[in-house]
Amino acid sequence: MLKVLKFGGSSLADAQQFAKVKAIVEADESRRVVIVSAPGKRFSGDHKITDLLYLCAAHIKYGVSCEEIFDMIRTRYLEIVHDCGLKLDLNPDFDALWAKMQEGIEKDELASRGEYFSARLMAEYLGYEFLDAAEWVKFRFDGTVDTDATYEALRRAAGDRSVVIPGFYGVMPDGRIRTFSRGGSDITGALAAAALDADVYENWTDVSGILMADPRIVDDPAPIRHLTYGELRELSYIGAQVLHEGTIFPVREKNIPLNIRNTNEPEHPGTTILESIEEDTNDGSFITGIAGKKGFSVITIAKTGMSGDPGTLVRILEILAKHEVNVEYIPSGIDIISLVVESKKVSKCLYAMLGELQKEVQPNKITVTEHIAVVAAVGRKMAYRPGVSGKIFAKLGENGVNIRMITQGPEELNIIVGVEEKDFAQAIRVLYDSFVKEHI
Ligand code: ASP
Repeated sequence: MLKVLKFGGSSLADAQQFAKVKAIVEADESRRVVIVSAPGKRFSGDHKITDLLYLCAAHIKYGVSCEEIFDMIRTRYLEIVHDCGLKLDLNPDFDALWAKMQEGIEKDELASRGEYFSARLMAEYLGYEFLDAAEWVKFRFDGTVDTDATYEALRRAAGDRSVVIPGFYGVMPDGRIRTFSRGGSDITGALAAAALDADVYENWTDVSGILMADPRIVDDPAPIRHLTYGELRELSYIGAQVLHEGTIFPVREKNIPLNIRNTNEPEHPGTTILESIEEDTNDGSFITGIAGKKGFSVITIAKTGMSGDPGTLVRILEILAKHEVNVEYIPSGIDIISLVVESKKVSKCLYAMLGELQKEVQPNKITVTEHIAVVAAVGRKMAYRPGVSGKIFAKLGENGVNIRMITQGPEELNIIVGVEEKDFAQAIRVLYDSFVKEHI
């Protein structure tokens, strides 16, 4: 059994958080591979180490001294060393880094040092070996990861050892350090789990899993216990603040369960994401999660005979594609079609596009409805279950939410309704209170 763990910045903010990480790792001997972020904020108003490093890079770029910021960074680490009772003397490393910064250091390399020092400290604290990400996370020149080479290199470098690895960065073919985009330690963790064929990838953060709805809208929403990768994709596409898809493809590809956990509440099982889930479909709510987004416009085109002429739809979509407008949903009726698009993407080209549609398609009518929000109820248990959409529409109607549009994906994994933006929060609350709360 092998568990690969990744700890985010808030789990490493200070010695107290380091101690929690140690307790979690020591509680299970299969937790042998640990990926760490750079220390994050200790309290609101505090600074993330990575932000401070980028700030240094900006100062260097414009020739302004960043000595004070650099001292803040050094002090943060030295405090952790002291408070955790570690022996490691980081001063020579910081002095060498400072010297390199005077000569001109690349931004990525400087930013990567947050994770690097964090991993060195954690390795000593856990009694694990430090394994540098630059030894195995292999980027191509185009910035993509060469997964085959990466997996092979990690297998060779890690063997059966217990190791701590810095997240967020890897190495280019010419030996230079390159970072992922912000939050990229999640990717390092997923790559490590995939390379080592881990039994589970535990992603430790400061929330007890993915919540069933946005806590800014619903009071104290319950976390989702189990979720499929398909559902995760639906929820994140439509606005839920969850892991970015790019961060999970390595584990998804290998069918490794991803478990999101809370360092501050380690006994909570969190959310487990799996490729497929076998369970009693009649148990619990048929909704796994609710998400939504504001800021959509609906372009509705009516043209007699359109249903019998597939060329019309092609022409419409070509015009939108020409303006680089992505169509999110296409609810349609006989001789009438609606295109749901993000308002900010059409704002500049709307009139030009409508003009072209008028000319090329010669519709009977084109209308544009703005300030539309989409709300999605996502759930694998909705598939092929009669009556689900009826129940949803009825509840929304009873609660005064006017549905402007309805669409459902062919896999019946979601039911999406378009509502006026003013009804957005109410629609989410109604769905949560009617279909989720009563099952908890
Ligand atoms: N420390 C990096 C950031 O703040 C990467 C990470 O935490 O995943 O973006």
